[in-house]
Amino acid sequence: MTDTVLVLNSGSSSLKFQLVAPETGASVFDGIVERIGEETSIAKLRLGETAITREGRVADHEAALRLAFDLVAEAGENLEHLGVMAVGHRVVHGGPTLYRPTIIDDALVAELRDLAALAPLHNPPAVLGIDVARRVLPDLPHVAVFDTAFFHDLPAAAATYAIDRQVAEKWRIRRYGFHGTSHDFVSRQAAEFLGAPIESLNQIVLHLGNGASASAIAGGRPIDTSMGLTPMEGLVMGTRAGDIDAGIISYLWRTADMGVDEIETMLNRRSGMLGLSGDSDFRAVHQRIAAGDQDAQLAYEVYIHRLRKYVGAYLALLGHCDVITFTAGVGENDARVRRDALGGLSRLGIEIDQHLNESPARGARRISADKSPTTVLVIPTDEELAIARAAFGVV
Ligand code: AMP
Repeated sequence: MTDTVLVLNSGSSSLKFQLVAPETGASVFDGIVERIGEETSIAKLRLGETAITREGRVADHEAALRLAFDLVAEAGENLEHLGVMAVGHRVVHGGPTLYRPTIIDDALVAELRDLAALAPLHNPPAVLGIDVARRVLPDLPHVAVFDTAFFHDLPAAAATYAIDRQVAEKWRIRRYGFHGTSHDFVSRQAAEFLGAPIESLNQIVLHLGNGASASAIAGGRPIDTSMGLTPMEGLVMGTRAGDIDAGIISYLWRTADMGVDEIETMLNRRSGMLGLSGDSDFRAVHQRIAAGDQDAQLAYEVYIHRLRKYVGAYLALLGHCDVITFTAGVGENDARVRRDALGGLSRLGIEIDQHLNESPARGARRISADKSPTTVLVIPTDEELAIARAAFGVV
């Protein structure tokens, strides 16, 4: 059996798991337990040809992980025979100091708890997942892989908010960037696809999923990214607003009598495409538009407008761009978004081939016209594989 890494991505009420062979990139099994702690939880596992779905209450994350292993056993496999070398944990926020993939010990867990204030929605569930997994799998090394890592060395001009310096320093406020594992993975894949050294390429990566972010990467090093202190800044997302005037927050707090948690929840969970159109999923948004829904139409236009602004900004920062890559759920699947994001830019050296863009092909592919000076690619992201490789690299 080849070496494998168990990758865990723990949310507040969900646990995603996947067993990956880092050297071949093969996925042995993957699954998710959702609605942990609610009346009816749902657990799903895919292992080879076998797919199992189980409904019933799962009390907590420990029960969820144990259930995942039970489902693996039910599918005829045994974790002990699958060559598991390590557990890789996705951790959203590494703060100012944590960025290398790091073996988890009690001191690191304490540091992660300390970072909870910077990422209250994301880090506490990750720590919970780490605690549980260390208890259930005490003999394996556990490795934290940070979503902020790739952007740790952003140029100061991109990382710095123009706010009072002392306040920023005291409270560790800077632009950290997120989805780093994906931007790193996809930009390397793009270089590989083009058969060019990554050092020779200026790239824009558009990670458009339920969360969405853009990055400008010069010679393999990110020089800007759209997310900031938290994963809320930047592009319009499924349920997050992206860029807003910070004045909106104080205005609502002062005038609309909304508490800080209420405002944060609104901006994170009830904004973006959902807030504007009633749906966060682009397939549903397109259906609404086709049915003449004006709200959905406006939501789509706002989304595309913001996306084009970022592309334009990053073209200016890079000076010239060799390759623009779309990835994640929307980026990989939605030809209309890709067309509208980059349409009409031939004088900036970007020309999409309509036929290639609309082809139902999967996998890494070029969608730009032959004569387009900037190559446009679609590359499926694989954050689990990237986390598995990062974890494997340190054990
Ligand atoms: P992700 O966060 O990368 O898993 O992306 C999830 C999002 O991708 C969904 O909320 C949809 O908006 C979008 N998506 C997934 N499949 C498609 C598709 N076939 N066409 C358009 N959008 C899609």
